[in-house]
Amino acid sequence: MNKISTKLATYFFLVVLIMDIFLMFYLHRNIINSKVDEELSTLLANGANHRDVLMEHYSDVTIKHIVLMERDANREVIITDQQGAILGKSDINVTHIEQLNPILTGLHTEEDKILVSNWRDSPYIVSAHPYKVNTGQSGYVIMFFSTAAINGMVEDLTMHFGIAGVTSFIVLFIVYAVLSNVITRPLIRMKEATEKLSEGDFHVRLTVNSKDELGELAGSIQKLANDLERLKSERNEFLASISHELSTPLTYLIGYSKVVSRGDLTEQERVQYLEIIVEESNRMKELVKNLLELARMDENSFTVKKAFFAACPFFEDIHKLVEPSFSLKNIKLRLHCEGEYQLFADALRLEQIVINLLDNALNYSDEQSEVILHVSQNEEKTIISVKDSGIGIPAKEIDFIFEKLYRVEKSRSRAFGGSGIGLSVVKELVEAHGGTIEVKSKHGEGSTFTITI
Ligand code: ADP
Repeated sequence: MNKISTKLATYFFLVVLIMDIFLMFYLHRNIINSKVDEELSTLLANGANHRDVLMEHYSDVTIKHIVLMERDANREVIITDQQGAILGKSDINVTHIEQLNPILTGLHTEEDKILVSNWRDSPYIVSAHPYKVNTGQSGYVIMFFSTAAINGMVEDLTMHFGIAGVTSFIVLFIVYAVLSNVITRPLIRMKEATEKLSEGDFHVRLTVNSKDELGELAGSIQKLANDLERLKSERNEFLASISHELSTPLTYLIGYSKVVSRGDLTEQERVQYLEIIVEESNRMKELVKNLLELARMDENSFTVKKAFFAACPFFEDIHKLVEPSFSLKNIKLRLHCEGEYQLFADALRLEQIVINLLDNALNYSDEQSEVILHVSQNEEKTIISVKDSGIGIPAKEIDFIFEKLYRVEKSRSRAFGGSGIGLSVVKELVEAHGGTIEVKSKHGEGSTFTITI
């Protein structure tokens, strides 16, 4: 019995069966008891009735009438005098009277009384009703009710209960079989699905028909399979992009290294090629650094260590640091930061975020344009925006720019350099601070990246 469905169905089966048996016994007993009680009350009422008639019209004729009235029924009657002699009796069996003799002869009661109530062992249940008439005559009207009738009813009842018991057992068994099957089938399908998943096959299709816990479980497994499938294809795409990204600078490095090692180069050419080699090596170093950063973020092994620091001096330092690169390209970098508020963030990480955004602004802006770094505070939050009037991002691409290795129009990006990792790092860092990042951009008119932390 290893299947959970079989266990569940068996428990259900046993509980219902025990309840069924208990109920049947209880009902069986109660029905019989109330039937016996009813017969006893009727017997007492009839006996009292005969006694009243006898006391009002005491005569042989009345005695005959009483005997006659009980002749055909399940009841019998005996009328005795004070010495216990029988004045009249219905068709009651003589041997029964002899059996009852010890009770009848020693009878001494002033009230109506049940003499024999044991319907299982005695042929009759018996009641006695004392009478006394003015003439001094007294005695008993003794009523008998044949227990054969009760025993017959008990037999009938037992048979009906037996049929009901067997029927309910069969029905229960069918319910048990259906139930265990209904629970088993989806469970088996889910088990097969999870086995497939563990073997690396994520093409799992579980149909979710029910809204119960089993349906929810099937839904969760299906979602897990879909997520794993998506992750697998994302990983493949990611690996393909990385290989591509790494192979481009490597090709340059190998090519130019070969050229530099040739003896027929002028000094000027050699310096020029060496510069290209240094540039490409740096690009690769930057790419690998970013990749490592991303990997650490995915593993959740990196933590943000927040502290309070003055906001504007922090941004002024960044401005000083990057301004020369902007000047080189004839782009004006302006900083708007007013007030003396404090920032609660990881200064190193925040610097990385802002420099990344400024780098992009610089990369994707034309000469003579302007980039604005704007910092303000709103309630508890700090809002940092980097606005450029550069080439902008096409509307259809805007949703994807935060994805790893995503670059708008690859050819364009290649012309500008970049690897498509910067913004995904920025997004992860902002989220690690519990903040959000938004972008508004118009193709050809510029972009604004806004961070709220
Ligand atoms: P990259 O290293 O290629 O710049 P990012 O992840 O930083 O990678 O950016 C992803 C893509 O988003 C870039 O390829 C670029 O096309 C676009 N992008 C990012 N910032 C800007 C910007 N300020 N203006 C125009 N395009 C941008």
